[in-house]
This record gives sequence, structure tokens and C-alpha cells, in this order.
Amino acid sequence: MTAQHKGFTRRQFTELIGGGALALFAGAAMGCAPKDNAARNSNDKVSKTVDCDVLVVGGGGAGVTAAGKAAEAGANTVLIEKMPYLAGSSSLALGTFYGAGTQLQKAAGIDDSPESLLAYFLSRNGDKLDYDMQKFCAEHFGETIDWLTGELGVPFKDKVSIKGKDTVPRGHNCATSAFDALNAVTKFAHEKGVTFHFNMGAQELVMNGDEVAGVIAKDAQGTLVQYNAKQTIMASGGFCRNPDMIDQYMPDYSGVYTEVGMGLTGEGLRMGLDKGAAYVGHGGTNGILACPIDAGQSKLISAKVLWVDSNGQRFNNEGGQTHEIYYQVAHFPDQKFFAIYDQSQVDALPDKLKASLTRGISQGFAAKADTVEDACTAMGVNGDAAAATLAAYNAMAAAGVDTQFKKKADNLIPLTQAPFYVIQMGVCTHGSFGGYHVNTDFQVLDNDGKAIPRFYSAGEVCCGTFIYDDYPAGGCGLNWSYTSGRFAGANAAAAALA
Ligand SMILES: Cc1cc2nc3c(=O)[nH]c(=O)nc-3n(C[C@H](O)[C@H](O)[C@H](O)COP(=O)(O)OP(=O)(O)OC[C@H]3O[C@@H](n4cnc5c(N)ncnc54)[C@H](O)[C@@H]3O)c2cc1C
Repeated sequence: MTAQHKGFTRRQFTELIGGGALALFAGAAMGCAPKDNAARNSNDKVSKTVDCDVLVVGGGGAGVTAAGKAAEAGANTVLIEKMPYLAGSSSLALGTFYGAGTQLQKAAGIDDSPESLLAYFLSRNGDKLDYDMQKFCAEHFGETIDWLTGELGVPFKDKVSIKGKDTVPRGHNCATSAFDALNAVTKFAHEKGVTFHFNMGAQELVMNGDEVAGVIAKDAQGTLVQYNAKQTIMASGGFCRNPDMIDQYMPDYSGVYTEVGMGLTGEGLRMGLDKGAAYVGHGGTNGILACPIDAGQSKLISAKVLWVDSNGQRFNNEGGQTHEIYYQVAHFPDQKFFAIYDQSQVDALPDKLKASLTRGISQGFAAKADTVEDACTAMGVNGDAAAATLAAYNAMAAAGVDTQFKKKADNLIPLTQAPFYVIQMGVCTHGSFGGYHVNTDFQVLDNDGKAIPRFYSAGEVCCGTFIYDDYPAGGCGLNWSYTSGRFAGANAAAAALA
């Protein structure tokens, strides 16, 4: 499938920016990624060396936690980050952490256990991956949340929410955003004595025979620095901003736009694969439903209206779990769906969203017409089929029961007042589910399943070991990063100091 066939492509995004909408998009979340640092020219000379016990590459939740834990254990620890500040997805995330058996669950009267979480992970394709890692995550995710809320004092909401296809509330939500957690681990890392080097992008691994001995990195002026480390932890995040790697490892998502951190161009993974590390992944991504008119989780993606595919057919409960609908839409041939509003639903929108809709109409991402047929046809949707779907939907709404997809009655509202509006929607990636294969000590494995000496990994760059293709539940990405960071840091420090 080519980029042109997708619902919300880089091409469309470029057109959108050309249309003057750039200011609407958060700078860190959108726009052009910095180019993958080109492979080092063999004539380039290293001008400086830095020695340390533990080197961490990447300043997201995984890397900062790993560095803090390594320093806490007594290791002289340096963290290098290619951007001028901590700009990974961990700084942009909503802030849900998944886990079982936590103090917050107990306070909310939720009876839960790691055994029950393990059963859930296995039911979400975890049974196709290393059992030991599924068990490890089930046992330690709750502990990580307790560490954040307890020792680090990260503020979380009292309400623990249901996520994914789970029936037990396990979604622990930071009070404001994932920045609450990133701030806390950064403070922790500073207190433990981690040295941070910003604007320092790792370019290649330094090898000593089959052992990893550090990295060569480049600063913003192009100066090459060689970091010699007893242990190296790769925590460079995912690769959604590397179109070639998406084409190679996640071709179903080629051309889909992304909101991940600007630095996520994949070279931290590539440099290890080049040295014989094994790749594990099954083509999946983390993502959300998106509207090309607004960045992030646009409020135009309303559960109170009707959603159809380009054949004019309703395909899910509009109020269902967005990750589940994400995978459904991602597998539509065009990766698009369309929200049908009537005038009464538009009247109910706040002024800001009404302005967004007007802008969307002028940009061709929405259409308005006296009949739903005409509005749909203008958007390339089968208008006759959509009209029939709307008539059936309105009949269910009048009866107050969604016999098709069981949408809650509150969201089942007749859409009868002309004119009608049809808004294009699509999908947007929030992460890549593939990367280094690691064991439960977070050592990077080679293609024979042997640990590559002195080389660890944590976070999204190795999350293919834990997540198969679909996201088990919202909150697994962050908790994988912080949990793997905790253990990779402690284990690397123990090895460095042994
Ligand atoms: C908008 C958004 C919302 C999300 N919400 C949630 C949520 O609520 N819950 C959840 O569980 N997950 C969520 N996710 C996913 C989650 O944020 C990520 O899986 C997780 O933060 C990854 O953490 P990380 O530390 O591995 O990587 P990151 O936080 O992405 O950090 C990697 C860092 O490495 C740096 N880096 C890359 N290459 C190099 C190099 N060569 N040299 C030096 N540094 C390098 C990058 O610049 C970056 O700072 C969300 C993602 C997005 C984009």
C-alpha cells in the first residue's frame, strides 16, 4: 500500500502545513523530524573522549529512569540526548501507566493481582512472545507505579480506569500528563549524580571484539565525541519518524502521520542491528484516531455523532475504546473514516471547534451540504449508502437502543437537522512496536539468543519483546519504558561495578 492511499498521509500533512495550519500543531509533536544523523564519515575524527561506568543513550522515561537507577547504585553515569532538552514521546504522552496490585488500586477498593494481569497480557497476544517477559511485566508494572507515587511523589489521579479490552481498572493516570513522571525521574537522576549531555546524538556503537564499549556521538557543532563505557544502555525510543524503517518493519503504517518525539528517527536501533543484535517485532504501532483539522485527540472526534467508512457503512461503537477502533481503521484500505454531524450537533460545539470545522471545510477535510448524500459524496464517501446508514442509525436513536454496536444511550442522538457536515478522520501513530530483543535482565540479544556483552536496552526501542502487534491497553508503553529503565539501569550498574 502506498502513502497516497492512506487516510492521513505525509503528503496531506504537508499540504495542510502549506495551507497555513502549522501554528495549530504543537511544535514538538508535529512537523518535520530532524534528519537521521547520517552515518559517520570515516574521515571524521573523534575530538574528545568521555569515560564512564554506565552510558545511557536517550533521555525519555526509559533512559532517565535507567540513568537514575544506575547512579543510585553507585555507577558513574552519563546520559546523552540528541535534542537540546528531554523531547521524547515521554514528554508528550498523556500519562497513563498500566499495572496491577498498586496502592492506588487498593485505595480505590480494586481487588487485583499480577497473576490476573499476566492472564490478560497472554490473552492480548502475549502468548506469542517470551513468556518470561510477560510474567516479568505483570509482576513489576504495579511496583513501578508504586515507586512513582511513593518514593518519587508523582501526583496521580485517584481514579484508576479501564483500558483496552480489560475488565479490571488498571489505567493509572498522572495528575496532569506524563511530564509529571518525567520531571520526577529527572529530579531523581540529578540527585543521584547523573551527568546529562544534550545535543549529543549517538551515531554508532564502539565495539571491542564482540563487546559493546560505548558509542561515538556528534554534538550540535558536528564535533565527534567517543564515550567509553563499561556498560551501555540504549534507550533511544521508537522510529516513527524514520519513513524507511516504517516501510521496512511496519509497512501497514507507511505514510501515516505521527505525533511522536522529534528525535525518534531510529538510529539507536539501527546501530545495534548493524552489529548483530536481533530484531523482534510484528508490524504493529501504537496510535490514536486523528482528525487532520486538529492535532492530538481532536474533540471533533465525537462519540455523539455517526461514523462511517468510505463505503458509507457504520463500523463500530463510536464511544468504544479508541485503541481498538484505531486498529480497525488502520486496516481499512484507505485508513479513513468519516464523522457525520447534523446542524444541531455543530451548534453544540464550542466556538473553537466551530472555527476548526470552518477551517476544515476550506481545506477540504470536511464538507457541508443540505443532504447527507451530497456532503458524503463531496468527501468521496458512498452517499446513498451513508444516507441509508444514517436512517437506520436515527431509527435506533429514536428507540434509544443501539442494537448494532451497543453505544450508550447518552451518545445515541438522532441526526436529522440539515445541513449535514461530513468530517474526514484517520489514524496517527504514537509509537513503534518493534526493536531490540531483550531478556528479563534487559540485555540485548543477538540472533542466536545470546546476550551481547555490555549492552542493555530499555523503553520503546526494545518494546517488541513485550508487545506483539496490537496495544494490550493504554498505559503499557509508558510503564514498559519506566519498568525496563529501572531494571536496565540497576543491572548495568551492578555489572559495571562488579
Ligand atoms: C502523544 C503521545 C501520547 C502518548 N500517551 C501515552 C500514554 O498515556 N500512556 C502510555 O503508556 N504510552 C503513551 N504513549 C507512548 C509512550 O509515550 C512511549 O512509548 C514512551 O514514552 C517511550 O519512552 P522511551 O523513553 O522509550 O522513548 P522516548 O520518550 O521517545 O525517548 C527517547 C529519547 O531518545 C532520544 N534519542 C533518539 N535517538 C538518539 C540518539 N541517537 N542519541 C541520543 N538520543 C537519542 C530522543 O530524542 C528521545 O528524547 C504516547 C505517545 C505519544 C506520542
